[in-house]
Amino acid sequence: MIEPIPIFDGHNDTLLNLHLKDRGSGRSFFARSTLGDLDLPRAIDGCLRGGFFAIFVPDPERLSGPLKSDLHFSENGYTVDLSPSIEHDYARRETLAMMTRLFQIEQESAGKVRVVRTIAELESSFERSTVTAILHFEGAEAISPDLSNLDIFYQAGLRSLGIVWSRPNAFGQGVPFRYPSGPDIGPGLTSKGKALVRACNERGIMLDLAHLNERGFWDVAELSEAPLVVTHAGIHAICASTRNLTDQQLDAIGATDGVIGIAYDVSMLRPDGGIDRDMPLSTIVRHIAYVADRIGVEHVALGSDFDGATMPLDLGDVAALPRLIVALQEYGFDNSALKQIAGTNWLRVLRKTWKQ
Ligand SMILES: [Zn+2]
Repeated sequence: MIEPIPIFDGHNDTLLNLHLKDRGSGRSFFARSTLGDLDLPRAIDGCLRGGFFAIFVPDPERLSGPLKSDLHFSENGYTVDLSPSIEHDYARRETLAMMTRLFQIEQESAGKVRVVRTIAELESSFERSTVTAILHFEGAEAISPDLSNLDIFYQAGLRSLGIVWSRPNAFGQGVPFRYPSGPDIGPGLTSKGKALVRACNERGIMLDLAHLNERGFWDVAELSEAPLVVTHAGIHAICASTRNLTDQQLDAIGATDGVIGIAYDVSMLRPDGGIDRDMPLSTIVRHIAYVADRIGVEHVALGSDFDGATMPLDLGDVAALPRLIVALQEYGFDNSALKQIAGTNWLRVLRKTWKQ
């Protein structure tokens, strides 16, 4: 019996799942559900102490995934057309609705869920058995292209920002989903995107390069003064998905003392790129070990994508996370490495990124 290791996770889409009422109308974060991947009772079972709570605004026409006409199968893989951009006003409205939901959850939780805005809050919250939430936007569509409302979101609690999802916006272009393919598809950051990187550096908002195409990645690498971070992705050398990181990208993340959260999405981890839930936990371990071997265990973390991706049957939901920790232990990671992977690597990178 090992002592439970507290887990801090790089990415979940639970706010969207609740917003879309995917687990039924009136279902709250506090009710144990068999639908969705994450709620408070299951988070406690799984020793999840917190993570990045993403706000993702879906294209209204693609609420339940890509349209059939977007998806094309090939002999050994697939391509998904780049999703169209979404309207700024629509994105801002939906974002405010999901932010409101997060703050309501915090308020109704009687201290069990806490949205943190400073390192002191993050550290004290992670120490206690609360669920610590960091407000994250997955795609910057809600932010005015002239950045005039960035400080409003910052004041409200925005501490982590994904510049794009897999579609174009005013700041850059996301990478379309393809397998097998490299991530060098489409142009880099726009001039507004470069201004956004500088503005986030100034305020200490963490930039997340998940979903960004390769040129955008290198634009941020050149400009940003903060550690490079990818909250949820896999390793391209193991699974040749456009969403995954090449060895050169991993090296750049390591060189800036950054971190990558390994997602559990089967299509981003299986070597054959298939959307097949029959995937052993050892495949997740393989991606984690690849990063640890190449750039060091201090640069790899967990980035589940709970409520936003297809989970392997062996994992299921957040309650099963201790099984993943056991699989990592059986692979050979010692207790101190396990603690780093499970949570403290995120804390280190945030300490180096946030300004307060
Ligand atoms: Zn994502």
